Amino acid sequence: SIESSHKQHVAVMAFPFGTHAIPLFNLVRKLAIAIPNTHFSFFNTANSNKSIFLASNSSNIPSNIKAYNIGDGVPMNHVFTNHPVEGVELLVKATPENFYKGLEAAITEIGLKISSLITDAFLSFAVVISKEMNVPWIPVWVSVPYTFSIHVYIDLIHQFYENHEDSDSGDKTLELIPGLSKIHIKDLPDGILPISRTNLEESPFECMLSKLGRMLPQSATVDMNFYQELYPIPLLDDLKSKFPNLLNVGYLTLSMPPPPPPLLSDLDVTGCLSWLDRQKAMSVAYISFGTVATLPPNETLELAEAVEASGVPFLWSLKDKWKDYLPNGFLERTSMQGKVVPWAPQTQVLAHSSTGVFVTHFGSNSVNESIANGVPMIGRPFFGDHPVNGRIVEEIQGVGLRVEGDVLTKSRVIKSLELVLVHEQGKEMRKKVQSLKEIVLKAAGPNGSAAKDFKTLVEKLSML
Ligand code: UDP
Repeated sequence: SIESSHKQHVAVMAFPFGTHAIPLFNLVRKLAIAIPNTHFSFFNTANSNKSIFLASNSSNIPSNIKAYNIGDGVPMNHVFTNHPVEGVELLVKATPENFYKGLEAAITEIGLKISSLITDAFLSFAVVISKEMNVPWIPVWVSVPYTFSIHVYIDLIHQFYENHEDSDSGDKTLELIPGLSKIHIKDLPDGILPISRTNLEESPFECMLSKLGRMLPQSATVDMNFYQELYPIPLLDDLKSKFPNLLNVGYLTLSMPPPPPPLLSDLDVTGCLSWLDRQKAMSVAYISFGTVATLPPNETLELAEAVEASGVPFLWSLKDKWKDYLPNGFLERTSMQGKVVPWAPQTQVLAHSSTGVFVTHFGSNSVNESIANGVPMIGRPFFGDHPVNGRIVEEIQGVGLRVEGDVLTKSRVIKSLELVLVHEQGKEMRKKVQSLKEIVLKAAGPNGSAAKDFKTLVEKLSML
């Protein structure tokens, strides 16, 4: 069989929500090309596998990757409420049994035992599996290194929080943690602050996240969806001292350098790029809040009224089902000013010279893509790592602003658009984000740190 020529068998476990599985899959694809005699079994839910494999042209998928569908934990005939993490809770409840089942199937089919375990870092139980199999655990951190550090320092954060619980603790900053002095308590992602036992029982997801900080130090290597050159010194030095095998393999949702324009035409089914071609340089506001967050109806209305009143050309990625929340007649009135599409080729949109600002939810991949293309941001964070990302963008990198109160109103949006697109402060932001773009391009180049760290990862996987 083809498998008999394979020397190693790497098991990969995805976290199938939001834009988590895509960067992991992109890393595995690169690894599979680099180590053709290693087999990669990719464990993920059927839905997530389907969307990944549909999106990647199947001829682009190396034959030494095989996807396995694992149970998503959704009971038969289950009716979902509107709660965004309901599916996550059901999946986490079904772990690790669903992953074990997949592993058994793959080991039997491929005829090779597992040599290492690469997982989304959220799947903290993977450390137990790796110990049972006596193989290294290699977590991949999709978010920014700042949130990684937050998990690593969870005990210290608890102590700090308990000491400051009395007054306005949310506004306190994490000064005692290297590199996190600008992060506020209220920015912290789910699963960090102490929560009551009943909550932990109700939320297997939070329970899993709350264990991360203790599990991560037991990993063999950690892979970041990030560039070493983008860290502030104290954060990098501190993490490297705790994780000597910290690798930064670069932004995983982007091909760097960007592919040349002729390849893009088939991606432009909604005509976004040809519409952008007709706009003035750096004039357009691109609006998207990622794949999970939903802007509440009243904020959708306020945002629409703001862009219309401002006259700023806009490209809005908005699912059809939310179009009802737009003001009456908005689409007709703004047909010359803007374009609303259910899905945009975001990385190409951000790379386009007409794009002037990105109105975003501060999802990690979106922030990475904006920085890699030198586009300043206006953000409205929702949950998870968005508030931390917003803090970094606004206060550490100075490449965007967070909308006052984290809620969109007509006047706040108009003010923010003006500030970024017209005012001196906006020009300053653009300069800064352009210089970050230069850093990323260099870091992603053939002699950059990402290529070096990727090579190290390949060597680690091949040597086992
Ligand atoms: N995205 C896209 N087109 C859209 C909306 C989103 O291509 O119209 C992509 C975007 O490029 C990014 C991902 O979806 O890679 C969103 O990831 P992020 O981490 O920002 O947010 P999440 O979806 O996890 O909330």
